[in-house]
Amino acid sequence: MRTITVMNQKGGVGKTTTSVNLSAGLAARGKRVLVLDLDPQGHASIHLGVEADGNMPTVYDVFAQRKNMQAVRQLVSKNLWLAPSNIDLAAAEMELVDSPVREVILREALKELAQTETYDYVVMDCPPSLGVLTINALTAAKEVFIPVQPHFFALQGLSKLFSTTALVSRRLNRELRVSGIIFCLYETGTRLANDVCDDLGDFLSRSESDTPWADAKLFKTRIRRNIKLAESPSFGQSIFDYAPKCPGAADYLGLVDEVIAMEESVIEPQLVAA
Ligand code: ADP
Ligand code: MG
Repeated sequence: MRTITVMNQKGGVGKTTTSVNLSAGLAARGKRVLVLDLDPQGHASIHLGVEADGNMPTVYDVFAQRKNMQAVRQLVSKNLWLAPSNIDLAAAEMELVDSPVREVILREALKELAQTETYDYVVMDCPPSLGVLTINALTAAKEVFIPVQPHFFALQGLSKLFSTTALVSRRLNRELRVSGIIFCLYETGTRLANDVCDDLGDFLSRSESDTPWADAKLFKTRIRRNIKLAESPSFGQSIFDYAPKCPGAADYLGLVDEVIAMEESVIEPQLVAA
């Protein structure tokens, strides 16, 4: 099982769009995928056609430790499950302040789930902050994917993200790796976007070998700005259902195939052999 946290403390960089469409694309390729919506804004849930009203079990119930993940996740389409969220989750940040287990609740919940259900991928869509929800995601995951918008401040934001992953990997999760960086909202043909991509490539190639981002891959597929990607959430559909022939669908499918191609290098050898 690959556990992937999609994070960036900036809003509007493409976390949710990537979480949803990467997951839907993996599901279309036959993988069993569970999406965890960890943002109280519930954007990933809405994008997948689920508006969690007061009666629906949500990720908040998992953090409040009154329901297990199995009771919360629901099938949204073939091979694709969602643990939805809504604004209730905003309370978790405050309620967990004094809890000694606050950083490991999600990891324990996934461990328990894995005893009865198998997924090929768990994809976690983070809120735009580095609070307790994001820390839970980093503690529960083996991999971090970072969507970045190629502009001048992207590199600065990245070093903050990297130091957070380094901290979590030291204190809570030795296995954590930044495995991929994804350019989203890419403006083809602009000088700035190209420069930022080159700079980032340089930066990564110079990273020291004992850091969690030492092997981070800059995905070749760049997700171009495409209006269909912005329209699809309000229809509660992934890009593959909403506009399967648009450039946005082609880009996310390219990303999906790169992510699948990484499988051999990230899955433990004993699992491959079995
Ligand atoms: P985040 O989750 O990081 O806040 P979103 O994925 O919600 O970012 O994206 C921010 C906004 O940009 C949303 O309205 C989304 O529909 C839109 N968007 C994301 N990626 C693209 C893209 N490649 N082309 C056009 N619009 C996009
Ligand atoms: Mg989002």
